[in-house]
Amino acid sequence: MEIGTDTSKASELLQSGAVVAIPTETVYGLAANALEAQQVAQIFDLKQRPAFDPLIIHLASADDLDLYVKDRGPYFDALYKAFSPGPISYVLPKKAIIPDLVTAGHPTVAVRFPSHPLCQELLQKLDFPLAAPSANLFGRVSPTEAGHVAEQFPEEIPYILNGGPAAIGLESTIIDLSSEQPIVLRLGGLGLEEIEVVLGRPVQFTKSSSSNPKAPGMLSAHYSPGIPLVHGKIDQQIQNANRKRSGTISFCKKIAAIPEEQQRVLSPKGDLKEAASKLFSALRSFKAADVDVIFAEEFPDEGLGRAINDRLRRASVA
Ligand code: AMP
Ligand code: MG
Repeated sequence: MEIGTDTSKASELLQSGAVVAIPTETVYGLAANALEAQQVAQIFDLKQRPAFDPLIIHLASADDLDLYVKDRGPYFDALYKAFSPGPISYVLPKKAIIPDLVTAGHPTVAVRFPSHPLCQELLQKLDFPLAAPSANLFGRVSPTEAGHVAEQFPEEIPYILNGGPAAIGLESTIIDLSSEQPIVLRLGGLGLEEIEVVLGRPVQFTKSSSSNPKAPGMLSAHYSPGIPLVHGKIDQQIQNANRKRSGTISFCKKIAAIPEEQQRVLSPKGDLKEAASKLFSALRSFKAADVDVIFAEEFPDEGLGRAINDRLRRASVA
């Protein structure tokens, strides 16, 4: 396995059918040619991802979008103009050229246009979209640096394209534009409020049925740091815990009772964007700290704070 910044090499590997790890502004992805089911199947194998969980396809721009989707619907153009390239994925009716494996059998496909410059450079060299979920084992914390990917997959992938630390650090916000009303299916790197401003009306948030499979709790447990995590009103619980062996994740304030080196204050200046970009690294960092439990406070229920709370809630489900 090699880590480097050579998009020609990444592009050649992808064209020859390999899986390559790619940087994006949200998190690092495990990418393959989205038009070839066998190549996409390698991603599911590597991640041990269940086949009912669909992947997002990535394109440099919407120029070729109509090759892959049947209809953009009435809202796509305004959202694309405002937010793409960037941390938003659009669910649209798919054309037959997109294999069913990519969409887990859904008649719709999620499409994103990443803004990361190296990712853009790579996508522009390819004449197919990249199917890419986050480059971690299923259910674990998403990687926001090339080194996180190398740790998770030391042998299995030939190349990690290194684009530095992910600027946003949370997965994309997913909006379903395939039915009459736009519906946000996953909170992520773009706040719901910003979408509402562009559409000029309130937008519903409903968890997608694919994140809500019949076996309860399967996907509600996600982002596991490998250590029990408690999320919510934590003050009282910290008082009753073994504080020497507890870690904390807080927004801007230190937590007096906990040893400093076991605390992760995500943004001392109170900036939710900064906090979001540090969340996954913070979760990951407790592996090396000697703690038995992580207490994560509730973040403000607005903007990226809602996506942070969503990830922490799911990290708290064992
Ligand atoms: P990620 O794990 O970040 O690659 O994002 C993939 C997630 O996107 C899935 O778990 C689904 O929640 C969502 N998704 C992708 N494609 C679709 C689709 N066609 N319909 C609904 N949700 C989708
Ligand atoms: Mg993921």
